[in-house]
Amino acid sequence: MGSISYRPLPSPHNPPLTAIVIGAGLGGCAAAIALHHHGHNVLCVLDKVREFGRLGDSLGLGENAFKLLSKWGCEVDEIKRIGNQAPNMTVRRWRDGKELATQPLMDMAGYIGHRGDYHDVFLEWVRRRGIDVKMGSEVVAFEDVDPQPSITLKSGEVLKADIIVAADGIKSLARPLVLGMRDDPVSSGYACFRAFFKPTPEQRSDEKLNKYMKADCVNFWIGPDLHVVQNTLRGGEEFNWILTHKDDGDVPESWFQPGDMEEVKRLIVDLDPDMRGIMGQTEKCLDWKICYREPLGMWVSPGSHRIALLGDACHAHLPTSAQGASQAVESAGVLAVCLNSIESKEDVKVATRVYEKLRFPRTRLSQTNGEDLRDRWHGALKSVDEEKEVDPEEVKIRNSWLYAFDAEEDALGRWEEVRKRVKRELEDGRIVPLC
Ligand SMILES: Cc1cc2nc3c(=O)[nH]c(=O)nc-3n(C[C@H](O)[C@H](O)[C@H](O)COP(=O)(O)OP(=O)(O)OC[C@H]3O[C@@H](n4cnc5c(N)ncnc54)[C@H](O)[C@@H]3O)c2cc1C
Repeated sequence: MGSISYRPLPSPHNPPLTAIVIGAGLGGCAAAIALHHHGHNVLCVLDKVREFGRLGDSLGLGENAFKLLSKWGCEVDEIKRIGNQAPNMTVRRWRDGKELATQPLMDMAGYIGHRGDYHDVFLEWVRRRGIDVKMGSEVVAFEDVDPQPSITLKSGEVLKADIIVAADGIKSLARPLVLGMRDDPVSSGYACFRAFFKPTPEQRSDEKLNKYMKADCVNFWIGPDLHVVQNTLRGGEEFNWILTHKDDGDVPESWFQPGDMEEVKRLIVDLDPDMRGIMGQTEKCLDWKICYREPLGMWVSPGSHRIALLGDACHAHLPTSAQGASQAVESAGVLAVCLNSIESKEDVKVATRVYEKLRFPRTRLSQTNGEDLRDRWHGALKSVDEEKEVDPEEVKIRNSWLYAFDAEEDALGRWEEVRKRVKRELEDGRIVPLC
C-alpha cells in the first residue's frame, strides 16, 4: 500500500472531540477513518477478538462506499484490485445452466471480494492513520452519562470519550445494554450453505469441473425455491458458492456452523452438471441461517445521547441486498459530518440525533430492497423450469440506484432542516422514535 498523500480536515472544535469506536469490523474501521478524516480525535478502536482470521466469504462494496472512502484518503483501487474482476454476472437456468440474463456487476453487488481480504485493507487504513486498534479488548458495560459516557472492558479498565460509536455487529451488546432493546433474530425461512476454497490443480484441469474456474466470473443458477451464487477470485484460484434454500430446520444464527455436504448433494441432484460437479466435490461448507432484525426505534443512547450505534448493530442487511458493509460506510460518513456541523461539545446530542434521523430511512430502503429482490427471485424461480421463455428483465437484479448517492453531501444538504427538528425534540424532552 502506498503512502497517504492527503491530510485530514482541521477540526472545527478546540480541542477536537474525542471518540472511541467499539468493534474493528468493516463498520468500526470506516467509523474510525471517517471521524479521523473530519478532524476528530479517535482515541482507539476496540475489538474483543485477539486477532482476525480470514473470516466469511464474498462481500460486495458499492460505489456509494468507494466515493466516501476516496474522500477520506483511502486508496480504493487496493480493494478493487483484490476483488472479482468480471464486468458482468449471468443468471442461469437451474437444470442446464441456460443463460437467462446478463448484466453489469455494478447493477448488483458492486465489487465482490473476500470479506477477510477487504477487512485487512480497512484495518491497514486505520493503522496507517496512527489510530490505536486494541485487540482482545472486550467491552462488558456502558455508562451513559454526560459530559462523557464511559465503557468498561473485561479487564476492568474504564475508558471515556465525548462520543462512543458502538459498531459491535449483529450480536451487539450495546443494543440491549445502551438502548434497552432485545435482540430477537427473526427467521427469514431460508438458510444458505456456503463454501469458499481453493480448487486443487487436478480440479482446475478437469474439463468436467472447471468451466467456471478459467477466469473471474459471477453466476447465479435459479430454480424453484432455491438458487446458487458462484464467484471466483484471483482468476479462478479461489472458488465460492452459496446455495440458498428453504429452511425448516433450526440452524443457529452463526458464521461458523458446519454444513452437511450430504444435504447439499441432495439439494443439487438436478442442478446443471457444469456446476454440480465441483459443488459435489467440495469437502466442507458452512450452514448459515438467514435472520432479520426488526428495525430499531432509536440508535442513540437515551441518557447522554453520546453513544451511537452503527453498522450491523443497528441496520443489519440480508445478503441479497449486498449492502451491509456499504451502508455501514455511509453511516460512518454521516455521523462524522454531523459531529462537524455542531458548534460546541455540548451539542453532540444534536449531532447524534440528526445522524439517526438522516440514516434510518435510507438504511430501511436498502434493507427492504434486499428483501424485495429475494422475493422477486423466488417468485421468478417458480416459472423458470417451465418450457416457456423467461423475460430477462424479470430475473435481473437492480441495485444501481443505491450506488449513485453521496451520503455526506446528502447529510450536509439536509442538516439544517433536521437539526431544527431535533432541537425542538430535545427541548420538549421527547425524542420521536425512528419507527
Ligand atoms: C465472522 C463474520 C463473517 C462475515 N461474513 C460475511 C460474508 O461472507 N458476506 C457478507 O456479506 N457479510 C459478512 N459478514 C457481515 C459483514 O461483515 C457486515 O455486514 C459488514 O461488514 C458491517 O459489519 P459491522 O462492522 O457493523 O459488524 P461486524 O463485521 O460484525 O464487526 C463487529 C466487530 O465488533 C466486535 N465486537 C463485538 N462485540 C464486542 C464487544 N463487546 N467488545 C469489543 N468488540 C466487540 C466483533 O469482534 C467484530 O469484529 C460477516 C460478519 C462476520 C462477523
